[in-house]
Parts: sequence; C-alpha cells; structure tokens
Amino acid sequence: MSFTLAIVGRPNVGKSTLFNRLVGRRIALVDDQPGVTRDLREGAARIGDLRFTVVDTAGLENETDDSLPARMRRLTERAVDMADICLFIVDARTGLLPDDRVFAEILRKRAKHVILAANKAEGNAAEAGVFEAYELGLGEPLRLSAEHGEGMADLYSVLQPFA
Ligand code: GDP
Ligand code: MG
Repeated sequence: MSFTLAIVGRPNVGKSTLFNRLVGRRIALVDDQPGVTRDLREGAARIGDLRFTVVDTAGLENETDDSLPARMRRLTERAVDMADICLFIVDARTGLLPDDRVFAEILRKRAKHVILAANKAEGNAAEAGVFEAYELGLGEPLRLSAEHGEGMADLYSVLQPFA
C-alpha cells in the first residue's frame, strides 16, 4: 500500500494543473477562469518510481467573496481526512491572501502531515511570494511550477520517505 496525497489550497493556485501533471491524463479540468473544477477527484499519480493516490480539491471556485466558501472548506476537510499527506499550495505570484491563512489553520489542526509548496515559482517574479510563504509557519516552501514541471525532483524527495 502506498500513500494518499491531497492537493489543497485556495482556488486558482494551480492544484488541478499539478494533479494533471502527476496523473498524466487530463482528468481534472483546468481553465484560466477559476471555477471550472468541482468536488474531489482522485487519480493514480506517478513521479519517477514513486506511485501514490492523489486527490484534487475544488468546489464552487467562482465565488468571489473574500471569505472561503463553506463548500470549499468542507471539501478540503474531507480531502484532508482521507489523505496521509497534504500538499498545501500557495501562489508565489499573488503572494499570500487571507484564505491562505484560513487553509493553514485548517491544516495545522487537522492534517497528519503538511508539505507547503509555492507554485508558479518559475522566473524571478515569484521570489517575493516564495519568501512570504514562510510566514505560514509550515516550514520551507517547495518551489514548484506545475505548469512547467519544475520542482518535481524536490517533490519526489519529500514524498519518498512516505512510500
Ligand atoms: P486550481 O484552481 O488551484 O485548480 O488552479 P488551476 O490548476 O486551474 O490553475 C489556475 C491557473 O493558474 C491556470 O491559468 C493555470 O494555467 C495557472 N497555473 C498553474 N500552474 C502554474 C505555474 O506553475 N505557473 C504559472 N505561471 N501559472 C500556472
Ligand atoms: Mg482546480
């Protein structure tokens, strides 16, 4: 038996892009507009020789309200409870938003293991956002670019001990 990894974080940080990269088939929908994917999606993930189950969280991502929609919170909690490890994604380009801190609290209270990742970390524009992620108090953020496939070796290294 391998482990289950839940990809969590607020809308539009790149969760589904990473899910698609890990699963290798376009199961989760990705779109430029937040709001396309819904519910929980499970796939068989692979990085090199590492095999595991990955869960993508979504749900009413088009709500523009400042506070985290209750449905998104419920879905995240469900994903967290079924996962051995949570990969918490923040967006290195926008920097931290209030919802990121809400997710950090949920994960701190509920998750068995949390790995923090700053996505969209390709290029210099992301530097400030990567450093801001330390403020969440969840350790050093992995630098990822789900879209460009950067940081996958580092992700492998942190996940390998769980296999
Ligand atoms: P989700 O709402 O968290 O599932 O985010 P999506 O995977 O749907 O991605 C939201 C947007 O961010 C899309 O326009 C993606 O193409 C873009 N995106 C995802 N990963 C990256 C990345 O590594 N770098 C950049 N620049 N954009 C990304
Ligand atoms: Mg999505």
